[in-house]
Amino acid sequence: MHGLESGAGTESVSAWIKRQIRRDEIERYLDGGKDFIDEGHIERTLASNVQAPADRIRGILQKARSIKLLDDADVAALATVTDPELRQEVLAAAHEIKTAVYDNRVVTFAPLYCGSKCVNNCRYCGFRSDNSAVQRRSLGMDEVEAEARVLAGKIGHKRLVMVYGEHPDTGADYIADSVRRVYAVKEKVRSGVGEIRRVNINAAPMSIADLVKIREAGIGTYQVFQETYHKATYRFVHPEGTLKGDYHWRLYCLHRAMEAGIDDVAIGALFGLYDWRFEVMGLVAHARDLERRFGVGPHTVSVPRLEPAAGTDFSWVGHWVSDDDFRYLIAVLRVSIPYAGLIVTNREKPDMLRSVIGMCTQRDADTRVGLGAYADAFSGSDEQKAERQQFMLGDTRSLDQIVRELASMGHIVSFCTAGYRCGRTGKKIMDALRCGSEGHLCKLNAILTFQEWLEDFASPDTRLAGEAIIERELSEVQLRVPGDFSQAAFEHLVDARKRIMAGERDLYF
Ligand code: SF4
Repeated sequence: MHGLESGAGTESVSAWIKRQIRRDEIERYLDGGKDFIDEGHIERTLASNVQAPADRIRGILQKARSIKLLDDADVAALATVTDPELRQEVLAAAHEIKTAVYDNRVVTFAPLYCGSKCVNNCRYCGFRSDNSAVQRRSLGMDEVEAEARVLAGKIGHKRLVMVYGEHPDTGADYIADSVRRVYAVKEKVRSGVGEIRRVNINAAPMSIADLVKIREAGIGTYQVFQETYHKATYRFVHPEGTLKGDYHWRLYCLHRAMEAGIDDVAIGALFGLYDWRFEVMGLVAHARDLERRFGVGPHTVSVPRLEPAAGTDFSWVGHWVSDDDFRYLIAVLRVSIPYAGLIVTNREKPDMLRSVIGMCTQRDADTRVGLGAYADAFSGSDEQKAERQQFMLGDTRSLDQIVRELASMGHIVSFCTAGYRCGRTGKKIMDALRCGSEGHLCKLNAILTFQEWLEDFASPDTRLAGEAIIERELSEVQLRVPGDFSQAAFEHLVDARKRIMAGERDLYF
């Protein structure tokens, strides 16, 4: 089946494409006709901050400890460090800042791919419309539900990122329906109910009216990655005449989301398309423009690296990112946008994930990126199939294995979604993260939600490792009474944990 066929109503795909982009919903954000990516300024700033002395780099790291967005010159100075010892200092500061803002918590999620039809033709993507090596279809609502039942009931995820190609069959109405269908799933598990409590989405840029539609379905974070901020590269990899070929429609979609009332938005770049230093500067510029206009920066930043895809030629790629540079760029982002969550994914191999997780806040686990692949995995057919996925995965381990590994490294996996359900989003959560108060609540909720997961899903070995981490966390909370926590909060925590072990669910602060 070809990617441009539509089963949605009688409107042709080309008519649908023509009515997507609203010029007025781009132009209202331009300053004197200009966007916020000033390429000349970025190139000059990178060039003029090369080889910054060690004292200056240490001064920048000190500034970052105040958990504020760094300025361009400072980001450029960090990004252009080449001295291995100085790089180690930046990496150490990145670990320290992650711990100061997010403690030892790691949030896990799973992506749920809903369709492989796409009207775009991105040069690097297995789902591009002229790739005949990929089977095209979108999940029906019963299939979406079947996937959610496995994710919530068999694996134990509480949080998803639902992923949609840009196509009329998976437009705003489909997104809203599929999100509602996932939230409705309640699966009986050992001693509780498996359910997805937070659905983030990764979808194409939309108009404000469509964004309101998906907000009303209860989406969490809205992710739109610019892929590359470098305009000539953007034009090269996103052919002219395609929807995605419009750089500005994409660049300002998170501004539109803010206007539509979605205050948790996520940025990202596909590393490998252009010089990673430029992309880091672009991400920081994006965060700054969101802060300037809406008083709130991105909730998370994602760092995907280019990966092989079926039927896709990569001989044109001139900026592959080495493992050392990849680790270092994560450190630079951690330090430069210190309040934002950082997401690393199973595109990477286990060794890489282990080496960067101490700077990151989220990773996926038990991931399948084929359509319908979660349900297949539990009906005996579990292998990556190039012809039905966008790219190949580097880490296919189970959530249980990853929870155990993270516990052995001293991380607690948090399944908490309380902040969002209590209205702690957007500016409220940003302010709380900067001053550390959100961290206190999150620490308590991580313990409770982790205990719940151990009760319902853990294997015996993982349960042992998890209980050890929980005991350690409880001791730490107790030691921080009365400074960070009240005696009453500690007692409430101990009591809530006992109630969870006795079968109560979804308790949080
Ligand atoms: S990257 Fe996204 S928009 Fe581009 S072809 Fe792939 S699925 Fe479509």
